[in-house]
Amino acid sequence: MRLTVVGCGDAFGSGGRLQTCYLVEAADTRFLIDCGASALIGFSRLGLDPNTVPTIFISHLHGDHYAGLVWWLLHAKHVAKRTAPLTVVGPAGVEARLKAAAEALFPGSTTVPPRHELRFLELAREVRLRVGSVAVTPFEVSHPSGAPSYALRFEAEGKVLSFTGDSEWVESLVLAGQGADLYVMECYQFEGGQRYHMSWSTIRPHLARIASKRVMLTHMAEAMLARRGEVVDPRVVLAEDGLVLDL
Ligand SMILES: [Zn+2]
Ligand SMILES: [Zn+2]
Repeated sequence: MRLTVVGCGDAFGSGGRLQTCYLVEAADTRFLIDCGASALIGFSRLGLDPNTVPTIFISHLHGDHYAGLVWWLLHAKHVAKRTAPLTVVGPAGVEARLKAAAEALFPGSTTVPPRHELRFLELAREVRLRVGSVAVTPFEVSHPSGAPSYALRFEAEGKVLSFTGDSEWVESLVLAGQGADLYVMECYQFEGGQRYHMSWSTIRPHLARIASKRVMLTHMAEAMLARRGEVVDPRVVLAEDGLVLDL
């Protein structure tokens, strides 16, 4: 399994980083984890082809995690001339929220149907869902987004890749990442508690019992970026846009 960091920034472009978007490639599947507003920019920078992604998973309905779908679908229709089916998997109401965003930004854009099949699937708390050859289990976290926000645990090709999404520390994050080959964890600050987000000081005490083989810290604000050199832990990788990791 190969993970490509298309974007690992926070909502505000801290450090010049693009918003959240990860590409996962396994033997018989490819999928995106989140699709921040800058997802297509990241794809273009890395020379990746959006038409080859059949499934997009969304952790929660904040713009820096799903708004890129607005441009993704316009690009599919008008530029990429996509014909391959696309499945979007997200929290309850994902289709309506995407439609509202698309109509606010590009009025009338949703009245012309795509030329490819487009289907939406909704996540349900701790219900394992199989989409093609990948399975996802969502764990509810603490991060208000107008719908349930989830940490996502993916199983593909015999590997487990987990992602916290955005959240303050909650115990469901232990189950979501338990024993994972890689746990991508939101680490907004270096220390202290910021409501609905995590810091390195809140994550660190839990790593031993989560027992994931590797941890990737992501979604870092400026203050965390400035101190990221102080994170010295053999389990931990710091996310960078364009980073490729083989599991
Ligand atoms: Zn975010
Ligand atoms: Zn968020």
